[in-house]
Amino acid sequence: MKFTSLYYVAFAPLLSQACLLPEEREGLPRVLKRQTSNGVPIATGDRFSGGTIAPRGLGTQTATLTNILNVNEINSGLKGLASVYGISTFATPYKTVNGATISGGKVGGNGTCNNAYRVYLNAGIHARERGGPDGLLYFIGDLLYANKNNVGLKYGSKSYTAAQVKTAYSTGIVFVPLSNPDGVAYDHSSNSCWRKNRNTASSTGSAASIGVDLNRNFDFVWDFTKKFASSVRSSVASTSPSSETYHGTAAFSEPETKSIKYVMDTFAKVRWFIDLHSYAGDVLYSWGSDENQSSSPTMNFLNSAYDSVRGILTDTPGSGNGYGEYTPAAENTANVAAAKRIGSAMSTAAGRTYAVIPAADLYPTSGASDDYSYSRHFADTSKNLIHGYTVEFGFGNSAASCPFYPTQAQHNSNIKEIGAGFMEMLLAGNDLGLGDKTVC
Ligand SMILES: [Zn+2]
Repeated sequence: MKFTSLYYVAFAPLLSQACLLPEEREGLPRVLKRQTSNGVPIATGDRFSGGTIAPRGLGTQTATLTNILNVNEINSGLKGLASVYGISTFATPYKTVNGATISGGKVGGNGTCNNAYRVYLNAGIHARERGGPDGLLYFIGDLLYANKNNVGLKYGSKSYTAAQVKTAYSTGIVFVPLSNPDGVAYDHSSNSCWRKNRNTASSTGSAASIGVDLNRNFDFVWDFTKKFASSVRSSVASTSPSSETYHGTAAFSEPETKSIKYVMDTFAKVRWFIDLHSYAGDVLYSWGSDENQSSSPTMNFLNSAYDSVRGILTDTPGSGNGYGEYTPAAENTANVAAAKRIGSAMSTAAGRTYAVIPAADLYPTSGASDDYSYSRHFADTSKNLIHGYTVEFGFGNSAASCPFYPTQAQHNSNIKEIGAGFMEMLLAGNDLGLGDKTVC
């Protein structure tokens, strides 16, 4: 097994264009020299004692986290939030290839019907991006603790009052801390820097050919071989199962992406969505398929006339063959405004500067969760507008076998930044609008 994983880590870049992944562009390339550190360790045991203790993060106490939550703890921490604070949990109807259930929780809001929830926070879709599920669970634990005890939150240098906690709580939050349980379990046991899920349906026999890149599997310009200019296709996604960005056999072919769609369909009034990733130190707003433009409504992803020119960032929309993805000016203004607030809060928390940029500026992508969430109301006008974001926490660990594995110090900074970013999302959503007032 060791041979397999070392072999994979050493040769993955040659096999799969890993150097082109967005998360790696601002970090060092995949490490080729022999290294032994796996960063802050994965925990053993269960600090939440079978779901009788609730997670409490770094926003309501001074503490140092010394490890990463294991998969059992992520599930038991969610149960702990339910048993201590009485929140409701739910499971999506789609089991993973290895039989895992994908679960979430519901917090706050004005009412308890599905329409009461207006913000959706998601984590753990890319397996190796360690600390994402931790950051989400700990943030929800902090929010519930602060709400119950009428205190504020303090994430490093970023503070929130008790009144702001009440406002944030009132927005109504659904959250899924672990959207790729099979991939995370495998990454924890193998330290193989694993990104995808563990679906073997398209495997060609090699270790790398297992799994689908879930963040290329959503139904937004999923068929990149048709929807993007030929000159950029090879870096948007891949049809090769051994690639890190293999997009699967069809949009929503995977139980994990179906589950995220299910949450958006079920909680149909969700207005704001964050998918948490690492590591690039940035907050990305839509679109990720091409640069934004607000002047030509018919120049959009639904119009097949532009299929062959999408994804070229150096052109000028509206001039010659220049293409830009349409976003109505008012929606774009809100997309940017919330992103800036999230980035500013995260930058203040630990003193590390987060960039706030359109997702395409990192790299054009297809089938990503943030664009899918924002595309829904264009593709089906009966659906609610969702402002969708990818938040890339952290800045990479160049000394680790996998740069997505943080040091202990980085992990603690990451958790504070995630807490500040999520809190700011709730407040910005409240200020910029949560949709119609009709609740239950
Ligand atoms: Zn990611």
